[in-house]
Amino acid sequence: MQNKDRKSCYLCGSTEFEEVRGIVRDNPDIKVKRCKKCSLISLDSTNHIDEKFYADGKMRSNNFVPELWAEKAYPDDFRRFKFLKNKIKNKTVVDFGCGAGGFINIAKDSCKSIYGVELEERLKNYHNEKGLKVFSDIGEIEEKADFVTMFHVFEHIEDPLNLLEKLKNSLKDNKSEIIIEVPNSDDALISLYKSEGFLNFTWWSCHLYTYNKKSLKLLMKKAGYKINYIKGVQRYGIFNHLYWIFKGQPGGHLKFEHIKLPLFEKIYAGFLKLLGKTDTIIISISPR
Ligand SMILES: [Zn+2]
Repeated sequence: MQNKDRKSCYLCGSTEFEEVRGIVRDNPDIKVKRCKKCSLISLDSTNHIDEKFYADGKMRSNNFVPELWAEKAYPDDFRRFKFLKNKIKNKTVVDFGCGAGGFINIAKDSCKSIYGVELEERLKNYHNEKGLKVFSDIGEIEEKADFVTMFHVFEHIEDPLNLLEKLKNSLKDNKSEIIIEVPNSDDALISLYKSEGFLNFTWWSCHLYTYNKKSLKLLMKKAGYKINYIKGVQRYGIFNHLYWIFKGQPGGHLKFEHIKLPLFEKIYAGFLKLLGKTDTIIISISPR
């Protein structure tokens, strides 16, 4: 088997790394490192990812239920739809890495057509039952897309430059957009509060790269795309953060969900956006 230990940065080729604090929660033997030059965070090895890894569903436990997954993802899927609904109206959309297809389900009545791409084979029956048009390779979709969306998928891709090149063939024209949502390596819990508990929780063997605005911009430039916009989005609220800071544990947003402070949450999210330390980044790109 090919040895995929990382000796140089995928993005800029630099060999100067610094080790990142915290452990890979499901595989402590893997180390996380940050490129000193471009700030891309990567795992020191991807030997655990083989060609069939995602197709075989190794990313998830064996007893997962697609219905529950879709239910849990609903708030995020709905937020994404609300954000994009005017743009995708009567357009052709491909949701790449669609998982249980929650976003497709919400958006399908607004779009001209919407397809999914999903590698995980055991989801096929579920997609069929729901009447979703999902393929395992984007090349199988004949219609060219106005929009390709990737929600928390891009960080799983081993060779993102290769994927971005391939996606150019699936886009309608230079006005077509790829919209990518990823976790932010400058998340306040990592870069501002430096929560020990969070640092031992957030790194995962399936997140091969963790981007921030700087590394994402560099990647898109290298891939020959122009950036339409790049923005921070905060998915988790103040109580989630306080719980991480004081208890070192996840789930604060659920423990305190009875306390609603919408104005305060808005201000707090705005403050994180201003600092570039939101938990999530959304980028829209188009081919040059
Ligand atoms: Zn680099």
